Amino acid sequence: MAESNNEHEKTNEKVSVAIMGGTFDPIHNGHLRIAVDIVDRFHFTELRLVPCFIPVHKSHPSITAKQRLDMVSLAVSQHSGLLVDDREIKRTGRSYSIDTLIELRQELGPDACITMVMGMDSFISLPSWHKWQSILNYAHILVVSRPGWHPEFTLDLQDLIEKSRAKTAAELQSAPAGKIHMEALTELGISSSMIRTLCEQNKSIAYLLPESVHAYINQHTLYQ
Ligand code: ATP
Ligand code: MG
Repeated sequence: MAESNNEHEKTNEKVSVAIMGGTFDPIHNGHLRIAVDIVDRFHFTELRLVPCFIPVHKSHPSITAKQRLDMVSLAVSQHSGLLVDDREIKRTGRSYSIDTLIELRQELGPDACITMVMGMDSFISLPSWHKWQSILNYAHILVVSRPGWHPEFTLDLQDLIEKSRAKTAAELQSAPAGKIHMEALTELGISSSMIRTLCEQNKSIAYLLPESVHAYINQHTLYQ
């Protein structure tokens, strides 16, 4: 899907795409505030939210992939710089980020800047990801702070950071791939698991996620 923003084609601007993968079970304001912050501050052409089909590192979601995708679509419809990319859901099977990055690189070409955005909790677990050492061949990594998660890295991850760390965020726009950059953005202590737990306990989830997503959860009686 990902209807691309074609402005750059008209102006010959370099394409710079950020992607943020996740289970989005459900999408919430922690994800969205970061996504908006990134688009506004770091000169990406667009930011694509990429819901996974089967998460590799956590248990299978209790709702369908279509329901998670619907909620991401509802959330991004309110912001022009954000898009949804449904390739992992269409691909089915276990959703490996490296497969997504290889596909994107083929589609966008060798010169496009591609940046994979992830929270500190995800980045810490990078050494357990499939072909993690190859990720920087296809994309940069932008790590955003997350309340409660400290930058404590395994030795091999520390090694990779030392070799690849960008001096400034601008480096993400001056090469196609290969850099790691860390940023503290708006820190919101919201998680999908917190929202699922509140629903199970029949407590309000208001203001943790967009109204449209809240309404969808009520309408489909999710997470009861
Ligand atoms: P769960 O509670 O089920 O683990 P989650 O809130 O962590 O869900 P995911 O869909 O797993 O949400 O996260 C997708 C990406 O967004 C990950 O890279 C994660 O680190 C990042 N992320 C999620 N919530 C936040 C947040 N509040 N602040 C910063 N990053 C976040
Ligand atoms: Mg999580």
